[in-house]
Amino acid sequence: MSSSHWFERAKAVIPGGVNSPVRAFNSVGGTPVYFSSGKGAIVQTEDGTELIDFCGSWGPLILGHARDEVIETVKKTAEQGMTFGANTRLEAEFAELLCHQIPEMDMVRLVNSGTEAVMTAIRLARGYTHRRKIIKFEGCYHGHTDYMLVAAGSGLLTGGISSSAGVSESATAEVFVAPYNDLEAVQAILAKHGDDIAAVIVEPIAGNMGLIEPTDGFLQGLRDAAHNAGTLLIFDEVINGFRLGPTSYGHMCGVHPDLTTLGKIIGGGLPIGAIGGTKAIMEHLAPLGPVYQAGTLSGNPVAVASGKKTIELLRDEAPYLKMEILGRRMAKGIQQIAAKKGLDLHCAQRGGMFTPFFRKQAVTNLEDSKACDQKAHARYFHHMLQHGFYTPPSGFEVAFISGIHTTHQIDAFLEAFHQFEG
Ligand SMILES: *Cc1c(COP(=O)(O)O)cnc(C)c1O
Repeated sequence: MSSSHWFERAKAVIPGGVNSPVRAFNSVGGTPVYFSSGKGAIVQTEDGTELIDFCGSWGPLILGHARDEVIETVKKTAEQGMTFGANTRLEAEFAELLCHQIPEMDMVRLVNSGTEAVMTAIRLARGYTHRRKIIKFEGCYHGHTDYMLVAAGSGLLTGGISSSAGVSESATAEVFVAPYNDLEAVQAILAKHGDDIAAVIVEPIAGNMGLIEPTDGFLQGLRDAAHNAGTLLIFDEVINGFRLGPTSYGHMCGVHPDLTTLGKIIGGGLPIGAIGGTKAIMEHLAPLGPVYQAGTLSGNPVAVASGKKTIELLRDEAPYLKMEILGRRMAKGIQQIAAKKGLDLHCAQRGGMFTPFFRKQAVTNLEDSKACDQKAHARYFHHMLQHGFYTPPSGFEVAFISGIHTTHQIDAFLEAFHQFEG
């Protein structure tokens, strides 16, 4: 049975046939691919084809699909009980590991998704500062809680909606939005409303409007501005965390947020989120403090075992230099081929992350990203898919090279891209 067969059946019983909107291929057109299995960098589809995967479940699969050691520990843990709703030693060990790898975090609380991590971070920031308002950046995505759906990235951009129906105005009224990389805009908001602002939240490297790096001084400027206003700085590292090194990006770049949110990689493919920070702030969470937060399956042993093994492997094997080398080879190759063909394209890259933006100039914020040729991206996506390469089905996303991809696979991708007619 083919992808289109399953998509038709799914559409009858799941809204849009998908459990997360960007999977519907709305921005690239055509029928979404149904995956049946994956190993390493390669996935099999219900159409009987084999694809080299550069989406990696949107980021978690930094070690590739079904890494033996991860699967082994997941199986072993599951056999001993899937959940207890009570404490396990794995949780303590995993929290120790996360706090050890990210020294800026004294304490960490586990949740079940990136969305939940951000929701908790914001509530905690409000409870800690006794302030209500938040500053976020256009095109940064922080999950789908009400107040974070203002000018949010990726899926919401793809759908052509900057916000969502069903979000009350009182929720959005709490959120100021600034252009990414625009420190002055943040300073201006803080100058006027500083006393009301609980937190500034940012993806330190933006990954939900395509890959956009912070300009020099932007993050440090946010750190200083937040500090001066008595506002907490939250780094949403759901994509960034453990992506460029076995730690947070905040730790690597030397700008230390008050709170860090994690997800994706730290679950190794199973659902986890985490929020971490200094003891003084984290102790405001229940049961120690007045900020309530809970979860029936939070810290469940199977997800924790998967995440813990993934982080241990990243720490011990450190595939980061390899991913950077492969990433550079990919970006340089794409750029050179595009130049030869006269395509309007700029390929952003950092470590194993890359985004071919379909315009010539570099992209520094959402406005730039929106100015890219999305139709050209859609043609590129389908061209690569036909040649056996799965990339994210939207121009507002990051493609991921994992630690298991090979030079040969990068070169095969470039070879196929060479045949792209634009
Ligand atoms: C994916 C993502 C989220 C949401 O995580 P989910 O696990 O999908 O809820 C939050 N923030 C960032 C930066 C993300 O990329």
